[in-house]
Amino acid sequence: MKLLYPFARRFIAGPDLKTALPAICRIQESGYFSSIDILGESVATRPQAESAKSEYLKLFESLDSINHSFDFSIKLSQLGLGIDREFCTENLRQLARAMGNHTIRLDMEGSAHTQNTLEICGETHKTYPHIGQAIQAYLFRSENDVRHCIDNKISIRLCKGAYKEPADVALQSMDKIRENFFKLSCQLLKEGYQPAIATHDENLLGKLLDFIGQERIKPESFYFEMLYGVRRDLQKILKDKGYRVRIYIPYGKAWLPYTLRRLVEKKENLLFVITHLFRETFGLRKLH
Ligand SMILES: Cc1cc2nc3c(=O)[nH]c(=O)nc-3n(C[C@H](O)[C@H](O)[C@H](O)COP(=O)(O)OP(=O)(O)OC[C@H]3O[C@@H](n4cnc5c(N)ncnc54)[C@H](O)[C@@H]3O)c2cc1C
Repeated sequence: MKLLYPFARRFIAGPDLKTALPAICRIQESGYFSSIDILGESVATRPQAESAKSEYLKLFESLDSINHSFDFSIKLSQLGLGIDREFCTENLRQLARAMGNHTIRLDMEGSAHTQNTLEICGETHKTYPHIGQAIQAYLFRSENDVRHCIDNKISIRLCKGAYKEPADVALQSMDKIRENFFKLSCQLLKEGYQPAIATHDENLLGKLLDFIGQERIKPESFYFEMLYGVRRDLQKILKDKGYRVRIYIPYGKAWLPYTLRRLVEKKENLLFVITHLFRETFGLRKLH
């Protein structure tokens, strides 16, 4: 899997905080907002979950000395959701206590975790209002979940959804997912609490900009959010138009699952990897 690392490098800020920090600072200094994610998910043991929590605590401390506002993203399966729900919730509470005024947004994982993730978000948000939630537009249930979050002033990041889900829980056609994304985005832009519209889909963004103009939605009432290393051109265009653009910046050693999700999202990515593998093989042959 080491062969995939050159591809992964495009999507992650580094394998550890020391290498990631310059990229994080560069992004902030260029006028973007950021949401930092320490890679990792589906841990199998309590020590692994504790260690993920410690990494986040170290990260909060390191960033404390930097005069910027940061958001954090985290997966509950990284904090032990698959081991014991109460243990995971307690880990999240400890992070929430340590993070002060920074926001922690819970990534949304595969549908086996959706209900638990939303319930834990709801429970902890009552004491720690800076906890927010990602919602996937491809899930049938998301319309109700968006309503619930709006009613409870939980800040949402809306994305399409990156996991392979069965037809009884999720829309399967990209057109239908886009349609639902647009509908939920409009609702969030009008009624949501500091929502983030997380997509690089130019057509959708164009339609949403029209909606924002028509409805006179204030730029300071929401964010656009995009992934580190993806469509930097669009990130800049939106920022230059005066919108707040947040960059989701992952770093860390556990880069493989994240990278595989990025790999399958775009045909050209597979081509990049295959070309790279050919080059490596060809290069090695030349040395012999
Ligand atoms: C900030 C952010 C947070 C996210 N959080 C979650 C989450 O918590 N849970 C979850 O399930 N999913 C999450 N996702 C992933 C999301 O669900 C989609 O899988 C992903 O964003 C691709 O969808 P898209 O809307 O960008 O549109 P697409 O139609 O897939 O892409 C539009 C264009 O963006 C570019 N692009 C998109 N993806 C890539 C890529 N991998 N490599 C190169 N170019 C690409 C291409 O130019 C493509 O034509 C998140 C996405 C973003 C932007």
